[in-house]
Amino acid sequence: MASIFSKIITGEIPSYKIYEDDSFLAFLDINPNALGHTLCIPKKETDQIFDLDDKTLSELIIFSKKIANAIKKAVVCERVGMSVIGLEVPHVHIHLIPINSMNDMNFNSKIEMTEAQFIETMNKIKSYI
Ligand code: AMP
Repeated sequence: MASIFSKIITGEIPSYKIYEDDSFLAFLDINPNALGHTLCIPKKETDQIFDLDDKTLSELIIFSKKIANAIKKAVVCERVGMSVIGLEVPHVHIHLIPINSMNDMNFNSKIEMTEAQFIETMNKIKSYI
């Protein structure tokens, strides 16, 4: 069965897409740790990041760098943190999280965002890509 992220790629499930190319997609995390929390995924479905072939893994990191640099410009933060977990969705994803304190990397501490805030944040990050 296709992962929830594969359904986001095809548009079967709505998302706040920031940027995509032939192989990768970046979109806002729906339950963010911080405003601007973004996920970068390979379009080809693989469960665990270290099962990716070297080329795809390197390209995913380089893709994530492009997105992180845009997040840094769009969102007021000290830096952009990066994390890989994957306990919830078995489709490789890199979390990019604008952080000001260690607590922003705490996945048990979430923020509430309105639809309007998601759209505004998506558009702002997009404008820096
Ligand atoms: P994990 O697999 O533990 O790295 O967490 C999966 C992440 O995907 C969580 O941060 C979720 O909030 C996020 N997530 C799950 N479903 C969606 C969705 N439909 N759109 C955007 N983000 C999602």
